Order: sequence, then structure tokens, then C-alpha cells
Amino acid sequence: MARSHTPRWRRPPTSRDGSFANWARTESSTPARWVLPATEEEVATIVRQAHADQRRVRCVGAGHSFNGIAAPSDIAMSLDKLRGIVAYDDSTVTVLAGTRLRDLNAALAQRGLALPILGSIADQSVAGAIATGTHGSSLQHRNLAGLVTGMRLVDGTGEVRDYAEGDESLDAARVSIGALGVVTRVRVRVVPAFHLRERIDWLPVDEIADALPEIAGSAEFAKVWWMPHTARALVFRYDRVAAPRTILPTVLDRFVDEKLMHGGLLPAVYAVQDRRSGWVPSWNRVAGRTLHKPSRVGPSPMIFSTPMPVRHTETEAAVPLESGGAAWDAAVRTVDACGAHVNFITELRFVKGDDGWLSPAYGADVVQLGAYTAVLSHRDRYFEEFWRHMRELGARPHWGKEMDHTAEELRGLYPRFDDFVALRDQHDPDRTFANPFLDRVLRP
Ligand SMILES: Cc1cc2nc3c(=O)[nH]c(=O)nc-3n(C[C@H](O)[C@H](O)[C@H](O)COP(=O)(O)OP(=O)(O)OC[C@H]3O[C@@H](n4cnc5c(N)ncnc54)[C@H](O)[C@@H]3O)c2cc1C
Repeated sequence: MARSHTPRWRRPPTSRDGSFANWARTESSTPARWVLPATEEEVATIVRQAHADQRRVRCVGAGHSFNGIAAPSDIAMSLDKLRGIVAYDDSTVTVLAGTRLRDLNAALAQRGLALPILGSIADQSVAGAIATGTHGSSLQHRNLAGLVTGMRLVDGTGEVRDYAEGDESLDAARVSIGALGVVTRVRVRVVPAFHLRERIDWLPVDEIADALPEIAGSAEFAKVWWMPHTARALVFRYDRVAAPRTILPTVLDRFVDEKLMHGGLLPAVYAVQDRRSGWVPSWNRVAGRTLHKPSRVGPSPMIFSTPMPVRHTETEAAVPLESGGAAWDAAVRTVDACGAHVNFITELRFVKGDDGWLSPAYGADVVQLGAYTAVLSHRDRYFEEFWRHMRELGARPHWGKEMDHTAEELRGLYPRFDDFVALRDQHDPDRTFANPFLDRVLRP
């Protein structure tokens, strides 16, 4: 991941200068202006006008992608006023695109419903999470884009398009990387609300690769975390349970964990480690032990969620399931090989194969392996070494995380890449939605 600049955490966006910065503060841009449409008609009017004026419009969700995928170069569009649920039935819900996942979870819970699976946080917008193939961890469930059964979007000429299950274009638009239009609403599959119990076990790091098939099949949801420079990894398994009498952790436990630890102590520790990373290995040995918490039990959205972590950055590779063990061993070796003091977990998750043309899980089940760090000074060499191995295994990058892939390389990874580009030509003939990220990954 060759970069010319000195890495640094950037300033957050401010209402004063109207700039954009992502959650990790590794990407920023200064759009000409922000627009906040409150209806689909307003979205269409803005896009139509921008198209006529040869301007660019980029939709920003919650800005939680670790790369520049959402960074607007001209007009920035936020759908923060386009939130809420439009319709329910027993198995689907139609939701406005700017709705945050956590608000959707709360609304569903009131009706005794839930999403079948979630990622580690729920702060993303529905459209943003879907657009990048955001996922949880299960071989029985697809990523969030795989839950979509219908979608409406405003294309690059301002025309509204409506896709239902069975339309080929819906499979293209599932993971759209914001290239086909402004999504205004989506219909997603829901299930009756359920409760989960978390189990955590230690396993030596060098036994994980061989144990992966067993781990994947041992629970409906399972994932692996490893704190670099330590000898053991944590295997998390989640099983459905009847509604428990007591939800664990308690409100007080969560307050201590989320506000005092993740909101107070850890940011201070990580800020020091960003400049002096020498004591990271000893810190990791202590911090790794604290990740092995007493079993949690509660409603699924609560158990899927981790506390909002300290600012850090991430890259993530999707490899075929059968290469998962090799990818794990390579990721572990990467830490030593690049000589970096890595202070954030390596995470392994499973995702069921799907039909989304640009979904990292297109066509087959995958292992998604994430390399994370909060030390920017070694980020580039860590991620470069990680990707050297992942590329050998034919990995596809997570669209919402650090990646330096170009259109030529991606074309070889996605059988329907050319079809997606052709569909983009129809949806956005004059590249109203282009930004530098799309110019690189899809060609201008
Ligand atoms: C702390 C943290 C934890 C994370 N955990 C996970 C995880 O567990 N699993 C996982 O897979 N990922 C995870 N991610 C990555 C994250 O889910 C994705 O990057 C996601 O896309 C962010 O959603 P967003 O709403 O912030 O979208 P943004 O980052 O704002 O935008 C992402 C893309 O969506 C497009 N977009 C947004 N709204 C629209 C719209 N209405 N119409 C068309 N395009 C639109 C944007 O233009 C852009 O292309 C995590 C990120 C963070 C910061």
C-alpha cells in the first residue's frame, strides 16, 4: 500500500468548515457544499440538477468506512433526514436509506423482530453498510447486502429505479459501492427477535488453522480474535437461548466497559502507543487476557455489538473458505515479518456465499480476515505485508476498509466485474457519483 504522505490521524469534520473526515480520521476531503434531502423527490431533483451542471455528488452514510469510498470531492449528500421505517410485514421491513442500524434494531425489537445477523457495531447507515458488503460471522448467514429483497435508487440522471427480488440488477446493486445511484430505501429480510449466549474459549494460535472447520460448524455464529504478540487466540461462539431472566453484562458492567474503558482509559493508552509502540507486546499480553470476559447473554443486537472501539484503522481480506487456515497462519506470521508492534486484534470471521456481483462472498463461502492497528507509523508496512500474503490466496478486499486495489486487479477477482461496469455505464453515464476512490477501483 504505497503512500507518499506521512500517516496521521486527521481532524474530525466541523460544521464550521464543512469538511468530511471518516470515523478513523485517515481520510478527509472538502466538498463544495453539503445537501440534506428529506424526500426521494428532493434527492432526484438534486441529482438531476448536478447532472445537468456536470457536477459530482457523493453520498455519505455515517462515514464509518476506513478508506476514501465515501469521500466527496464536489457535492456531499447526507441522507440523515431520510430515516425511519416505511413498511413492515412478518418477514421483511422497508427502511429509508439514511436510517442507522442501531435505530433499525430498536424499531424492530419493539415489534418482536430482528435482523438475522449484524456486524460488530450498529452505528452505520443502512445504505452505507449494505453498499460495502458489511458482514457478521456465520456460515449460515450472508452479509447484510444478502438480506436485501428490494431497493429503490436515484440513478445518475435523476431517474428513480425500483428493484425487486429476481431482478438481476438487484444482485448488482446489493454491494454497489455507491456507484449506481443514491439508494433511497431498501427492503430487508427480518426474523423473530432472538437471544444469544456468548461462549469464549482459548486456543493456541498455531492450532487455529486446523481447528477452523470445527469452529465454523460448532455454533450458528462464531469468530476468532487474536491479540498480536501473544500465544493464544480467543474463539467466540454464539448460540440461541430462550429469553434469559437476567441480561449480562448488566447496565453497570456495560457503563464501565464502554464509557470508562473504551471511552476513557484506552484512548489515552493508544494515543501514547501511537508515538511509543515499544511496550505494545507487554500491554497486549495484559489486554488480551481482559478480552476473555464472563459469558454474555441477551438480545441478539446487544450480543453482536462490541463497545465502540478506540480509533484505529483496518484492512480486511475475503478468502475462499478452504484457504482460511493458510490465511490465518499468514496473518499471524505477518506481524513478526513486518517488525511492527501491532496493538489491535486480528479477527477471523465466516460469511456465507451470495449472489452480489461485487460482494466479497460472491459465489462461495469465505473467511474474512481482518488486520487492524491503532499505530499509524507502521500501518502501511503492516498492511502491505498482510496483502502480499492475501493476494497469493486470491483474496478480495472489504470495500469499506483500507485497500489499494485497482480496477485491473479487481476485474480478475470478480467474475461479474465487467457486467457491473457496464451497468454503471447505464446508471451513471456521466459519472455524477464519481470520486477518486471509484476512479481507481472502477476506472474513471
Ligand atoms: C468501528 C467500526 C467497526 C466496524 N465493524 C464492521 C463489521 O463488524 N463488519 C464489517 O463488515 N464492516 C465493519 N465496519 C465497516 C463499516 O461497516 C463499513 O465501512 C460501512 O460501509 C460503513 O457504513 P456507513 O454508513 O458509515 O457508510 P459510509 O462509509 O459513509 O459509506 C460507504 C459507502 O456507501 C455509500 N453510500 C452511503 N449511503 C448511500 C446511499 N444512500 N446510496 C448509495 N450509496 C450510499 C457511500 O457513497 C460509500 O460508497 C466497521 C467500521 C468501523 C468504523
